[in-house]
Amino acid sequence: MKVAVGAATDVGRVREGNEDSYLVEVPLVAVADGLGGHRAGEVASRLALETVEALFRSGEGSLADHFREANRTVFERSTRDQEFSGMGTTLTAAVVDGAKARLAHVGDSRAYLLRAGALRLLTEDHTLVNRMVQRGEITRAEAEVHPHRNVVLRALGTEPELDVDETSLALLDGDRLLLCTDGLTGMVTERQVQAILEAEPDAQKAAERLVRAANRAGGLDNITVVVLDVHEEEEGSGTSSPDSHANRHGAGGGSAGASRRWGLRAGAAVIAATVLLVGIRVYTDRQWYVGEADGHVAVYQGIPATIGGLRFSHVVEEEPDLPATTVERLPFYADLEKGITANGKDQAFAIVSRMRSDVAASRLGGTGQAQGTGS
Ligand code: MG
Repeated sequence: MKVAVGAATDVGRVREGNEDSYLVEVPLVAVADGLGGHRAGEVASRLALETVEALFRSGEGSLADHFREANRTVFERSTRDQEFSGMGTTLTAAVVDGAKARLAHVGDSRAYLLRAGALRLLTEDHTLVNRMVQRGEITRAEAEVHPHRNVVLRALGTEPELDVDETSLALLDGDRLLLCTDGLTGMVTERQVQAILEAEPDAQKAAERLVRAANRAGGLDNITVVVLDVHEEEEGSGTSSPDSHANRHGAGGGSAGASRRWGLRAGAAVIAATVLLVGIRVYTDRQWYVGEADGHVAVYQGIPATIGGLRFSHVVEEEPDLPATTVERLPFYADLEKGITANGKDQAFAIVSRMRSDVAASRLGGTGQAQGTGS
């Protein structure tokens, strides 16, 4: 198969730095979305890709082996250096190998296949909301707007060992693979993504158009896109098989279908719960929200949810001068009781000071017109 690749990354319209990275080392492509804030996220995603690239060039081991080695490298760095403590990254990679693509994946970046007018998701998001969807607790539509949709349960570099999802796919002439971070899929619907991929035949231009679409939709996160086109070579030496199928070799050894039915099995449910709790403990310390405590506003660290009777947040600062009932009556703060999620500590405190000025304005007989809560 002949391969053409386009790639683009952009900081977006809100974030200060770009913690995403991508790798194009044909026939290997990958995207990574760093976690852990600012520099740490940037370092995690770059270090993971550099490690995978070096191992791939050495020609030894599978893509999943490279992921596990990259995991050890990032984890070691995070334990050695206080500045990078707790950092991690998503990582989604594909290698074209003859008439096959091999994929490896951890986190909430995604791989899609565009074939014969259909866009198919090849990866599974390792997120809290996806787990809730699989358990039938919320719908896919609810997951898309869920306040905790950013909580990642599995990432590279946060634990000494890593489970890697692997998929392989028989390629057909004209297939187009898309790898992207959640800065694209969080802003642009799959239908729009498909429309752009179908309208733009050039891989590089398609990647750039997808990034522009995410920015036009708000660009709330870093956006990274890799588009890979495969075409049969003229000579036709490697004949592609007409049947194509995807295999997933998860940690449990089950098929993709079985893993979707995970929640129904008692034994597996225990494992799922353990994975969930470990993951949440890793990431809740980076989540912030504004909620209520004892009848007034409070800033929390964690997520405003109870899972299995356990709370995953604690009060960092109480605001006794801001009664919850007064604030909830103002526009934009109706969700106070459920918790207004913030993109970090600074934004949580910024929401509180905006509440304070909105309350003051409403007391002066103003309209209480707030500027939005940033939630
Ligand atoms: Mg992201």
